[in-house]
Amino acid sequence: MSKKIAVIGAGISGMSCALLLAEKGHQLHIISKGFSPNITSNRAAAFWFPYHIRNDKRGIDWCIKSFEYYKARCSDETGISMKKLVKAIKNNTGDEDTWLDFMPENSVKLLKNEQAPKGYDIAYETHVPLIETQIFLPWIRKQLEEKHATFKQEEITDIEAINKEYDVVINCSALGSRSLCNDTSLIPVRGQVVLLEPGYPDHIFLDNQTPAYIVPRKDATIVGGTYEENVFEERTEEESLKDILAKACSVFEGLEGRKVIGNWAGLRPFRPQVRLEKEEGTNIVHDYGHGGSGYTLAFGCAEEVVKLVEEI
Ligand SMILES: Cc1cc2nc3c(=O)[nH]c(=O)nc-3n(C[C@H](O)[C@H](O)[C@H](O)COP(=O)(O)OP(=O)(O)OC[C@H]3O[C@@H](n4cnc5c(N)ncnc54)[C@H](O)[C@@H]3O)c2cc1C
Repeated sequence: MSKKIAVIGAGISGMSCALLLAEKGHQLHIISKGFSPNITSNRAAAFWFPYHIRNDKRGIDWCIKSFEYYKARCSDETGISMKKLVKAIKNNTGDEDTWLDFMPENSVKLLKNEQAPKGYDIAYETHVPLIETQIFLPWIRKQLEEKHATFKQEEITDIEAINKEYDVVINCSALGSRSLCNDTSLIPVRGQVVLLEPGYPDHIFLDNQTPAYIVPRKDATIVGGTYEENVFEERTEEESLKDILAKACSVFEGLEGRKVIGNWAGLRPFRPQVRLEKEEGTNIVHDYGHGGSGYTLAFGCAEEVVKLVEEI
């Protein structure tokens, strides 16, 4: 039976839930304070990688389902493509030992030590989806509009009140849940990046520990980054941008002298664990707190949201 569903939030979490629910024939109403391109989901790099999932084993299924979702939809129209990714590790920084558990089976190759990027001791090679947010988020919106979903700009301050107007409410408000659900376990983790003219390198480079990453998008090469816990100001700082560029140029000399075309900062909605559950005694399903892996988890989480909605 078709349900009247409100989704709070128009980032990747809300949009992925809305799309999968609309495809099941439900009536979708997306209500959000902000829309693309003015939200965190437009600040992501955004490649698929199990980043800081904190050994939450539920994440294995969410990661793999999202990987398959993106891989099956690679095209210019969606803005998704498969890219080579090199993950590099310095012996003295250690590694998040769990990330390999979250990768698709047989997808990772350990490189020979001499093949590791400059300054690194160990490197792995894999291929992952790169989601160009500036193309993909409008693409999802178009799919939803074709399915007669509605979009309304509004800040929700009382989730219980809106619950009365809909059969189901899906809460994908990310950091907004700090006040909406009084959830102080949710904190912002700021990430700053530099944008260089596009064209080099041809693959994604990742060093989670420092953290440093280089992502070749069509419109820019994104060079990151920082991981600043509990920083609420969504702005870049000159010193950090200089450090980010210097670190990247020390690994890829070919980046030196490439034109800087911009920068941005975004606030990752970090929570010790993702909140994905139906709230007892209500018709509210929560899906928030994806930290630095919102794209990596989105469609797997959305599939679980669909299951929870169908049980209501
Ligand atoms: C620099 C950087 C790089 C990143 N790189 C990657 C990457 O490579 N891969 C990856 O998987 N992830 C990456 N991330 C993480 C990713 O961006 C986030 O996990 C993801 O965007 C979270 O999506 P979301 O939809 O949950 O939240 P958001 O995008 O923040 O969306 C929340 C939505 O809720 C709305 N909202 C909030 N409060 C209210 C309210 N009270 N009422 C109504 N609406 C409300 C907002 O306006 C917004 O539309 C990166 C993040 C940063 C900052």
